[in-house]
Amino acid sequence: AGALGVPLRFFDADTLERETHRLSQPSEVVFRAVGCHGVAEGAALAAAGEDGTLVLTKRKSARATCAVARAPAVLDAAAIGRPRGRLSLVGLGPGRADWRSPEADALLATADDIVGYDGYLALLPDRPGPVRHGYPLGQERDRVAHALTLAAEGRHVALICSGDAGVYAMASLAFELLDETRDPAWDRLAIDVAPGITAMQAAAARAGAPLGHDFCAISLSDLMTPWPAIERRIEAAAAGDFVCAFYNPVSLRRRTQLPRAREILLRHRPPGTPVVLARNLGRADETVRVTDLANLNVDDVDMLTLVIVGASTTVALPRSDGSTRVYTPRGYGAAGNRADTA
Ligand code: SAH
Repeated sequence: AGALGVPLRFFDADTLERETHRLSQPSEVVFRAVGCHGVAEGAALAAAGEDGTLVLTKRKSARATCAVARAPAVLDAAAIGRPRGRLSLVGLGPGRADWRSPEADALLATADDIVGYDGYLALLPDRPGPVRHGYPLGQERDRVAHALTLAAEGRHVALICSGDAGVYAMASLAFELLDETRDPAWDRLAIDVAPGITAMQAAAARAGAPLGHDFCAISLSDLMTPWPAIERRIEAAAAGDFVCAFYNPVSLRRRTQLPRAREILLRHRPPGTPVVLARNLGRADETVRVTDLANLNVDDVDMLTLVIVGASTTVALPRSDGSTRVYTPRGYGAAGNRADTA
C-alpha cells in the first residue's frame, strides 16, 4: 500500500466471515487457519458493500492473494474496515513545552489515545482530541499492555514517558512484551519511537558542558537490577574515567546506593571532582547545584534529581556573575586544531 500510495485497511475475521455466501470458493482450510472462509474475495466484497459485486475472483501469487470487487459508487477508504494499529512511544522531554520535539507534539495532537503516568499527562496542554488514559506510578506492565491492546483495535496510541522513551522508560518494555508474548495482534502493529531530551542532557545543558567527553549513564535503582551488577558498572566507569550520570539516585527507601557509588568513585578520582545535582529540570521549581565528590551528600538528593559526577579532567569554572559552569574538555588544548574531530 505504501508503494502504491493507497490507504491500507483491515477487516477482522468475523466481518469477512459474513461474506461467505458471496465467495466463489469458500474454503474450510482457510477457515481453520484464520477463522473465515476466504480473505481476498471477502475483503473486496466487504469493502465494496452489499451492492458491490465480485469482478475478479481470487488470484494467487507466491506471496499474496488478490480479488477485485466493484462498488456502485466511489468509496471513502477511511470508512472501510480499520487502519493498521499504531503505537508511538513518545518522549516528552523533562517537562518544558519548548524542550519537547515537534515530532512528539504532532503525535500527541493526532493520536487517538494517550496512555501514561498521571503526572506526565498533567504536563501536557489541556486540549480536546485524544482520549487520555492515566495511570498511577508503577503498574508499568499494565500500562504498556493497555497501550498495545488499544493499538491492536486499530487505534493510534501514544504511550508517553518523561525525557526519552527509550532511556529507563517504557519503550524497551513494549518490545519486551512483544517478545515475551509473541502475540500476533501485537506483532502486526506499527511501532515507532519519538526521541526526547533525556534528563542527563537537560542537566548537562543547565550545568554547562560536563558531557563534553566520554560519559556513561547508570541507574542506581536496584529494584530490577541486582546491586552487585550495578556496583560492578560503577567500578568499571570509575576505573575507565567516564563522566557518570546517575539516574534514580535515591528514593525514600533506597538511600545507601548513592553513598556507596561515591565511595567507589573516590577510590579513582580526587575529592574535588565536580558534581552536578540537577533537580526538577524543565519544571517550575528547577534547581541546579554544583558541588564536589567530597561534599556529595545523600540528603541533598531525591528521586527527582539527576546526578552527574565529573571525570578526572572535568572542571568547575567560577564566573564573574557568581555562577559556576562545569565542563569536560575534549582536549583541543592538547591536540591543537586537528581536522578529524568535529
Ligand atoms: N525517561 C527518563 C528517565 C526516567 S528514570 C529520561 O529520559 O529522562 C527517572 C530518573 O530520571 C529520576 O530518578 C531522575 O534521576 C531522572 N529525571 C527524570 N526527569 C527528571 C527531571 N525533570 N529533572 C531531574 N531528573 C530527572
